[in-house]
This record gives sequence, C-alpha cells and structure tokens, in this order.
Amino acid sequence: MTNCLTALFGGTFDPIHYGHLLPAVALAKEVKLSHISLLPNHIPPHKPQPEASTHQRIEMLKLAIEDKPILSIDLREIVQARLDRPSYTIETLQAWRQENGTQQGLAFILGQDSLLSLPTWNNWQTLLKYCHLLICRRPGYAKTTNDTQLKAWINQHQTHDIHDLHQNASGFIYFANTPLEDISATEIRDRISQQQSCESLLPPKVWQYIQAEHLYGA
Ligand code: ATP
Repeated sequence: MTNCLTALFGGTFDPIHYGHLLPAVALAKEVKLSHISLLPNHIPPHKPQPEASTHQRIEMLKLAIEDKPILSIDLREIVQARLDRPSYTIETLQAWRQENGTQQGLAFILGQDSLLSLPTWNNWQTLLKYCHLLICRRPGYAKTTNDTQLKAWINQHQTHDIHDLHQNASGFIYFANTPLEDISATEIRDRISQQQSCESLLPPKVWQYIQAEHLYGA
C-alpha cells in the first residue's frame, strides 16, 4: 500500500493553457493525487523549437500555478539538458525512482493524443515499471487505437479502480473522466499571431505575460 500518490505532467507548455490546467486539477480530485509536478520538456536542438524561450515557458508555468497549491514545477529535464544529458521520459522516471525509492506511488499524466503516440517513445513498454499512466480525455482523440501492440498493452494494464493506483506504486493505466477542453498551444500561438484574443484559454497572468513579452507575435 502506498501512502500517497504523486504525479508528473510532462509537456512543452508553449504556452501552458486551461487544456492542461483544468484536466490536471480535475484529475487530482478524481484519483486523489497528493500532488502534481509540471515537467517542462527540454527540446533537443534537432527538433522544432518552442517559440517561447525556456525561461519564458518556465515563467508562464510559475504564473499559472500561483493560486494552485496542488501544482508545482519540476525542472529536472531542463537542468539535465544543461548538463548535456538526454531527457527521455523513461530516464526521468528512473531518476525519480532513484530519489524516492520503489514504494511510493508515482503516476505520469498524458493527454489522449500523447497516449496514441506512445509507441514512438523510447522504451515505452517499460514506463509502467516506474509509474502508473493517467490519461486525460482530449477532444478529437478517440480512446481506441488501430495499433494492435498498443491496444494489447493497454488492455493488459488498464484498471477502472482507483484503489489499484493507490495500492500499487506503478503498473496501471487509468482513463480519467476529466473535462473536455478544446484548447491547444498551437491554436493559441496561431490566434495570437493573428492578433486574436486568447483571454478565455489561459490564466489572466499568463495572458498578460504573453502580451508584455510580445510572445507569439503579440
Ligand atoms: P501543441 O499544440 O504545441 O502540440 P499542446 O497544447 O498539445 O501543444 P503540450 O505541452 O504539448 O500541449 O502537452 C502536454 C501534455 O498535455 C500532453 O500529454 C498533451 O496530451 C496534454 N494536453 C494538452 N492539451 C490538452 C487538452 N486540451 N486536453 C487534454 N490534454 C491536453
């Protein structure tokens, strides 16, 4: 039996928006998470770079979580990148386990779209050795997949019972009943570059920061 279940929520957060925040807070309530750490990605130089700098992405995260004590920021992937080490999720989870041991419950949060892309992740089938996966609903992305390997893996590990998440430190996949928020960072960047307001899509302080920094063509 694990005494508390904590979660990591990885993303580019370019910028963070209500599509991240509202499902995360609802998920914490639904599965009784003690804490969620937002885990901003380092984007390797050979990949398309975020429009905001790493510093700006982190500043926006700080502003977004100011009034949400259940959320914090875990900078380990950014820090590792400065040390010139790769930041695959599997390695982040292994590092977390080295720090916290094998008994404490850990979950990794994914939107439905990210679950479907999982087979492209490094060592994806090993992820459940280190954590549970909590899947948030996302408009436009079905729960089913045509990828037979992914489908079989999900069927093998899925649970509908949150007790499984609390009684085991890792190993289960749970599809949460989180609110559907039809928001993406891509849409926000596009809208801002066309001088359209995004006030309703992200927290007011993040919106003000974007305007003050002239981000995304604001
Ligand atoms: P982009 O549009 O730039 O690809 P994004 O809005 O998808 O960005 P990311 O930072 O790439 O945001 O996403 C981080 C995590 O949050 C991923 O697991 C993603 O599936 C999830 N996520 C993002 N937006 C939503 C949403 N509206 N509903 C549910 N999950 C979401």
